[in-house]
Amino acid sequence: MHAIRSILIALSLCSLGWVWAAPHTHGQGQASLVLSGQTLTLELSLPLDVVLGFERAPRSDKERQALQQAMTQLSQTDALWTPSAAAQCKAQAAQAQTPDWGGSGHADLDVTYTWVCQQPMALERIQTQLFEQFKRLRRLDFNHVLPKGQGASRLTPKQPVWQAGNKP
Ligand SMILES: [Zn+2]
Repeated sequence: MHAIRSILIALSLCSLGWVWAAPHTHGQGQASLVLSGQTLTLELSLPLDVVLGFERAPRSDKERQALQQAMTQLSQTDALWTPSAAAQCKAQAAQAQTPDWGGSGHADLDVTYTWVCQQPMALERIQTQLFEQFKRLRRLDFNHVLPKGQGASRLTPKQPVWQAGNKP
């Protein structure tokens, strides 16, 4: 009995780990997708290294411009993400957060994308152009929470499509 309980606790810790303990690793981004009613929300976190090639506050006008440009580029929801057409999702304004430079020597760029979907239950896949636009990105760990269930999968330049049925 105790053994079973320990296993269950271990399993739930593991699944929490997938969702929350996302270490900052260069070349790897995190995404988490939540569908609630008609509202589809995708939170993306990319190491700034992937986006800019550096992870400290900009030091010159050129670097400030590069950051601004990256934030604008990452806010173009329709250019980056293509949800299943059948779900009839319409992109709302994306929100890119100014990076927290902290002091750790590392920084992420976080963007929140939102859609309102007329047929949310028809959402089966989302294709991304992130790998095309950010060549230093090699992997995107993708968690989803949908009314049908939740799970985790991994997107790569060769597999730039999230599908509801994906296994990790
Ligand atoms: Zn870093």
